[in-house]
Amino acid sequence: PTVLSDAVLAGLDPEQRTVVTAPAGPVCILAGAGTGKTRAITHRIAYRTLTGEISPRHVLAVTFTARAAAEMRARLGALGATGVQARTFHAAALRQVRYFASRLLEGRSMPELIESKVRMVGLAAAKAGLRADRTGARDLAGEIEWAKSSLVEPGEYVVAATKAHREPPHDPAKVAEVFAAYETLKRRQGVIDFEDMLRAAVWGIEEHPDVGEEIRAQYRHFVVDEYQDVNPLQQRLLDAWLGGRNDLTVVGDASQTIYSFTGATASYLIDFPRQRRDAVVIRLVRDYRSTPQVVGLANAVIRQARGNEARLRLELVGQRPPGAEPELKIFPDEAGEAAAVARRCRELIAGGTPASEIAVLFRINAQSEVYEEALAEAEVPYLVRGAERFFERPEVRQAMIALRAAVRSTPGETPLVQAVVEGLAATGWSREQPPPGGAAREQWEALAALVTLAEEYAKAPAFEPIGQAGAVQRDVTLTAFNDELARRADQQHAPTVAGVTLASLHSAKGLEWDAVFLVGLADGTLPTTYAKTPEQLEEERRLLYVGVTRAREWLWLSYGQTRSGSGRARRPCRFLPQLERHSPTERAGADRSRKPDRKRSQVSSCRICGAALLGGADRKMGRCPTCPSDLDQDLLDRFTAWRAETAAGLKVPAYVVF
Ligand code: ATP
Ligand code: MG
Repeated sequence: PTVLSDAVLAGLDPEQRTVVTAPAGPVCILAGAGTGKTRAITHRIAYRTLTGEISPRHVLAVTFTARAAAEMRARLGALGATGVQARTFHAAALRQVRYFASRLLEGRSMPELIESKVRMVGLAAAKAGLRADRTGARDLAGEIEWAKSSLVEPGEYVVAATKAHREPPHDPAKVAEVFAAYETLKRRQGVIDFEDMLRAAVWGIEEHPDVGEEIRAQYRHFVVDEYQDVNPLQQRLLDAWLGGRNDLTVVGDASQTIYSFTGATASYLIDFPRQRRDAVVIRLVRDYRSTPQVVGLANAVIRQARGNEARLRLELVGQRPPGAEPELKIFPDEAGEAAAVARRCRELIAGGTPASEIAVLFRINAQSEVYEEALAEAEVPYLVRGAERFFERPEVRQAMIALRAAVRSTPGETPLVQAVVEGLAATGWSREQPPPGGAAREQWEALAALVTLAEEYAKAPAFEPIGQAGAVQRDVTLTAFNDELARRADQQHAPTVAGVTLASLHSAKGLEWDAVFLVGLADGTLPTTYAKTPEQLEEERRLLYVGVTRAREWLWLSYGQTRSGSGRARRPCRFLPQLERHSPTERAGADRSRKPDRKRSQVSSCRICGAALLGGADRKMGRCPTCPSDLDQDLLDRFTAWRAETAAGLKVPAYVVF
C-alpha cells in the first residue's frame, strides 16, 4: 500500500472497502441505487493499479453509457489512476473489430455501420408484404433488436418469442419474415448493424485463435457496471474476452433492470454467486445519494416487487440529512404541468442550484417537446439526453450523409476537423457565416456542434486502436469519426448544451442530480399503455424506482390530468404509494378577479406552482410546503409580466458542448 492507495480507501464504508481490497477473482456487488456501487468499483480499479497489483492498461471497465464511461475515466484520473479503458460494450466491440478488421476480413473493406435500423426494417417489412409507417417500422426494429441481442436467429424467432412472452407488433411468423428480409437486405448492401458488430467481435475471438490471444494479452481484469442490464449477446462477448479466466467484478441492482425489452436480463447478476462459487459477494444498503425522504419513497416503490427481485431486496438506509417530502402535483393539463416545471426550474436556478444539477425525467421521448418549449419560453438553458432528436434533425442527417460521401471521395490524409468542415461545406454550411437568427440559426448551431464534436474527438478519440504497451495510436480519420457518430446515433447520445437535463428515464440510469422532476406520472404514461403482461408492468415499476433514486436533495412528482387532444382525466401512476396529493383547480394567478364562491375558497391553489392546496395550513400560506416562501406577490407579478414579454421572442438553446 502507498499513500495514494490509502487515500483511495478513505471515503468508503467497511463493505465498500471489502470490495476495493478483495483479491483477484470474481467479485459481485448486489445493491440498491445510490449505495456507492459505481464508486466502489472505480476505487477498486484505482486501488489495485496504485498498489501495483495490476497494470491500468490491462483493465477493461464496461459501463452502460458513453457519459458513464467518461465519468469513470475522470474519477479514476482524480484518484491518480490513468490509462484504464472505460467503455460501453458498443465502443469496446467497435474498437476491437476495427483494429482486427484487416486480419478478419482478409483484405475486404470494413462494412459500413448503419446508424438506425428503422429505415431498412421498413424496407424489409415492405418486402414481407407489410405496410409499416415509421412507428410500425420502429416497433419491428425493436423486436429484431431483442432477437439479435438474445442470440435468436430469424428461423428461431417464433419459438423464442413465445417462450419469452413477447408481445410482437405482428404475427410472430410475419416478424420472423421481416427479420430474415432485413438480414438479407443488409448483406446485399454490405452494411452491418450494431448487434452484427458485437457478433463480429465475438466471432473474431471465438474463431481466430491469434485474435483471441491478443485480446487476452491486452484485457486481463474486467469490471462491469449496471450488470443487471446485460443481454445474452453482450454476456457472450464478455465470456469471449474472459476466455475462462475469472478476474471479473460485476455490480448491479436487479431492481434497476429496465432494458429487458431489448433482451437484457438480471439473471446473469442474480446467478453470479451460484455460477462462481469462489465469488466475493457484497451487499450494500447505505444510501449516500438521496435524502431519507427520497429513500423512503424508493423503498416503498420497491416493496411492491415480486419474485427474485423481492427476495434479494434489502431496504435502503438513507445516510443524508433530511430534506423536503416528495409530493404529487396534479395539473389540469400537460402544458400547465410543463409551465410549472419551467417556472420552478427558474426559481431553483435563481436560488443558486446550477442548471446542470437539475433534471426533468420522463417515460417517453415524445414528452420532451412540451418541456423544451416551456423551458425555452422561460429562458432556461436545457439539454436533451437520450432523445434521438439531434441525430434525427434533417440537417444533421444530411450532414452525416455528406461526411460519408466525403470519406469515399477523399480517403485518408486530411486532418479530421478540416475534413468535417469541408464535408459540411458540401451541404452549404459555412463555419464563418452563422445566420443571424431564426430557424436557420438553429440549424447552423446543430452543425457547428458536429464540428465541435470532431474537435473534441480529434483531441481524445473514443477508441484508440488496441496497441501493445505505450504504442497507442490515435485513430482520428473521418472514417473513425463517422463510426463514432453512427454509434452515438444508435445509442441516442446527442451533443448538448450545459443546462437543465431533459432525459428519458432509460437514459438517466447511473446518474444523479440535486433536483429531479419526474413528470407525466399518470397511468397510461407510466406505466405506458403498451405494458400489458405482468413482466412488462414490473419493468415500468422499476423505471419509476430508477427515476426516484436519481434525486439527491429534492424530488418533484407530477402529471397533467389531460394530454393534448384527449379529454379524459387520468389517474396517477399506480406504483406511487399514497403521497400527499395536490389536485388541480385553477392556475397560478388565474381567476383572481373572480369572486370566490364558498366551494372554491375551500380549495385554493399554490400561487407559485399552480397546484391545488389541500392542507389548511398550506392554504393559509397560499403555497405548497415545497414552494419557496420568499417569492412574494410583487415578484410573482413581475415574473408573470416578464414571461409575457419574453413569450414573443422564443429563445431556443444552441447545441454547443458534447
Ligand atoms: P446507481 O445504482 O444509481 O448506479 P450506485 O450504487 O452506483 O448508484 P454511486 O453513484 O456510486 O451509487 O454513489 C451514489 C452517490 O453516493 C455518489 O454521489 C457517491 O459519490 C456517493 N457515495 C458513495 N459512497 C459513499 C461513501 N462511502 N461516502 C460518501 N458518499 C458516498
Ligand atoms: Mg452506479
